[in-house]
Amino acid sequence: MTQFDVDLFIIGAGSGGVRAGRIAAGHGASVMVAEEYRVGGTCVIRGCVPKKLFVYASRFAEEFEDSVGFGWTPGEATFDWSRLVAAKDTEIDRLNGIYIRNLERSGAKLVQTRAEIVDPHTVRLVGEDRLVTARYILVATGAAPFIEPDLPGRELAISSNEAFHLPRLPEKIVIVGGGFIAVEFAGIFNGLGVETTLIHRGDAVLRGFDADLRRTLREEMEKKGIRVLTGDVLTSIEKTADGLLARTRNGEALPAGEVMIATGRIPNTRGLGLENAGVQLDGASAIVVDEFSQSNVPSIYAVGDVTNRVNLTPVAIREGHAFADTVFGGKRISVDHLGIPKAVFSQPEIGSVGLAEEEALAEFPAVDVYQTSFRPMKHTLSGRNEKTLMKLLVDADSDRVIGCHILGPDAGEIVQIVAITLKMRATKADFDSTMALHPTAAEELVTMREPSIRHRRNG
Ligand code: NDP
Repeated sequence: MTQFDVDLFIIGAGSGGVRAGRIAAGHGASVMVAEEYRVGGTCVIRGCVPKKLFVYASRFAEEFEDSVGFGWTPGEATFDWSRLVAAKDTEIDRLNGIYIRNLERSGAKLVQTRAEIVDPHTVRLVGEDRLVTARYILVATGAAPFIEPDLPGRELAISSNEAFHLPRLPEKIVIVGGGFIAVEFAGIFNGLGVETTLIHRGDAVLRGFDADLRRTLREEMEKKGIRVLTGDVLTSIEKTADGLLARTRNGEALPAGEVMIATGRIPNTRGLGLENAGVQLDGASAIVVDEFSQSNVPSIYAVGDVTNRVNLTPVAIREGHAFADTVFGGKRISVDHLGIPKAVFSQPEIGSVGLAEEEALAEFPAVDVYQTSFRPMKHTLSGRNEKTLMKLLVDADSDRVIGCHILGPDAGEIVQIVAITLKMRATKADFDSTMALHPTAAEELVTMREPSIRHRRNG
């Protein structure tokens, strides 16, 4: 039998790669993991975690305002961006350390270098110019921000990577894109007092989400002072005496301290040597894999954003875990990519699971929509004019709940639990028979008696 240096070589120590390495090592495999940047990956180092910390920071301005209605007289609040960045960096360093320790404790060997594939069983450690042979190779290299290559002045723009380390907070920012990152950072910068303009090519932000959420989020963002330009695209960025100028197709000329581009991410497959092994990529440069994350080359697997399936951290972790169990644990496990709950840390927050109304109508002949929109209790005293939206979609034939969409405080927390009920195929009758928990916002989910719309195909 051929002897290899290791059983498993993993390229990329992000969420998916680290989980795969730890589980494979636990199954007795010898594992080596290469990372060229920082262990922890996008989510921990420059994604979900620091983003959420920034979201918390940006919410305080409204909290101070709201406190007045409750009898408080807050003093003059000042904000120090560099202190926030430093505090965030300390936390990220702590998490980075935990990731490294957990990986090493599992028995996997970490090598801090870029790695490239030489053939289906060989990897070159670029930093050490050394070859390592492996029975299996797992590619878990994630994705990187995509910026239109032909955009004039693209070198003047930042992506979310740089947004976490800006030397100073700009007075004005232009954010391009209408996806997760664009709306989340629009809320962050606006909350921190930056005059924020969002430019999106479509007519509503967050394509793929329920239309009512998309419309209501835009209204709420505008109420908070974010300027949302839809049906428009950035055509150039120019340097001016006091900053930057962003020009758009519809003739806007927007002065800004920073222009942030959040127009999607592309899988990190370039320069990895995948062609040396004959690994197949799709039109979006993602590695094509089967349900067990195996590529067309039997010894090469891939998990997480580099496969462009559902680009979320918990999904990458599940895929990495399932890969290790399948290849080294003797159990063939695939990941169910349906019914995945999603949260957008916009302001207000979004939580969503199951089908959007349009998708439900395409799939089911009879759909009942239960929908409510109300002012959260807190705002009866704060006076803030902000709405919470809750929506349940029910397959009227089976009474099964097939979608739940929330815009409002803690929407992500609520929808995580609702997602369990959808997995269990809960019916509307199950929701109705559950006692309300009062006074909460989530109690609306079990007290909506009459549908606001009854869709019936053919009449
Ligand atoms: P998204 O795919 O969410 O959104 C990309 C946005 O950019 C869309 O609005 C898209 O418009 C627009 N766009 C794409 N190409 C162009 C172009 N050439 N010119 C103008 N606009 C363009 O990507 P993000 O970068 O926001 O986030 C990447 C991924 O990271 C997300 O899809 C998600 O999987 C993950 N993520 C998850 C988070 C969470 O769970 N809370 C937070 C942040 C990221 P259109 O709709 O018309 O295609």
